[in-house]
Amino acid sequence: MILLDGKKTSNEIKDEIALEVDSLINSGGKKPHLAAILVGNNGASETYVNAKVKACNKVGFDSTLVRLEDSVSEDKLIDEIKKINNNNLIDGLIVQLPLPNHINEKKIINTIDVLKDVDGFHPINIGNMTLNLPSFIPATPAGIIELLDRYKIDTEGKNCVVIGRSHIVGLPVSILMARNNNPGNATVTLVHSRSKNIKDVCLKADILIVALGKANFVNSSMVKAGCCIIDVGITRIPSDITKSGWKLVGDVDFNDVKDKVSYITPVPGGVGPMTIAMLLKNTLLAAKSRN
Ligand code: NAP
Repeated sequence: MILLDGKKTSNEIKDEIALEVDSLINSGGKKPHLAAILVGNNGASETYVNAKVKACNKVGFDSTLVRLEDSVSEDKLIDEIKKINNNNLIDGLIVQLPLPNHINEKKIINTIDVLKDVDGFHPINIGNMTLNLPSFIPATPAGIIELLDRYKIDTEGKNCVVIGRSHIVGLPVSILMARNNNPGNATVTLVHSRSKNIKDVCLKADILIVALGKANFVNSSMVKAGCCIIDVGITRIPSDITKSGWKLVGDVDFNDVKDKVSYITPVPGGVGPMTIAMLLKNTLLAAKSRN
C-alpha cells in the first residue's frame, strides 16, 4: 500500500508557489493578496481560517482577515464583500462557510466577484469548470485531482465512485473525474444518502472518493482489492490517548482497509493540507491574471 502523502505534497506545492511569488515580485508585480471573511466564533471555522492565513504568510502572500459578529446582517456582509470586490489590492476572497442561519449562503457566494472567487463556489466558476473552461476549481476537489496527478495514478477508463454530493466536494470532484482531462476520463458513479446498495457500488470502484462526513463509514468489506482510496472526511472523535481528549478520523476505517488497497490518503495529512495548497494556487492564479 502506498500512502498518498498530502502533507508532503502540499509542502512541495507551497515551495513552488513561494518561488513564483519571488519571480512575480522580481518582475515588478505585487504580492498576491487573499482576503478571508469569518463570521462568528465557530471553533472549526476559526481553525481553518487561521491555517489559511498562516499558509499565506508562509508562501509570501499578503492576507487580510475580516471578522464579523455572529449577528451581522446579510446586508452588512454583502457590503463587506463589495468593498473587497472593489479593492484593487486584493486578488482573492473567501467567505468561510458555514454561515449563520439568518444569512443566505447562495446570495453571499453570488456576491463575490467571479475573478476573485478563489474558493470556486460561484455558479459561473462551477459552470465553467463543468464545461472544461478556465475557472477557479474548488480547493478540495482540486487538491484530490492534484494528488492523483502527482502520484501518477491512472484514472482513464477506471471506475470511480464518489460518496457524497455536496457542492464543495462530492459533486465537483465527480465532474472533474468525468471530464475529458488527465486526471479524469473516469467512469463516474456518484452516490448519496438516497442511493441503494452502496456497498455493491463501492466494490466496483477502482478509485473510491469518500466525502460524507461519517467516521469510519467505509470498511474492508466495501472495497475492491487494489483500489485507490481518497478519504476526504474529517471527524473529531473522543480519544483517551491524546492530550486534547479527541482525535481526527476519516470516513474510511484506515486500519481495516490498509492491507487491501493499493493507495490511500491518511487522515489527517491527506486531503486536508492539499485543500489549503490549492486555495493558495487559485490565489496565485487570480493575482497573475490581474497583474
Ligand atoms: P456534506 O455537505 O454534509 O455532504 C455530505 C454528503 O454525504 C451528502 O451528499 C449526503 O447525501 C451524503 N451522505 C450522508 N450520509 C450518507 C450515507 N449514509 N450514505 C451515502 N451518502 C451519504 O459534507 P461535505 O461538506 O461534503 O463534507 C464531507 C466530509 O468531508 C466532512 O467530514 C468534512 O469535514 C470533510 N471535508 C474535508 C475537507 C478537507 O479539506 N479535507 C474539505 C471539506 C470537507 P445527501 O446529499 O443525500 O444529503
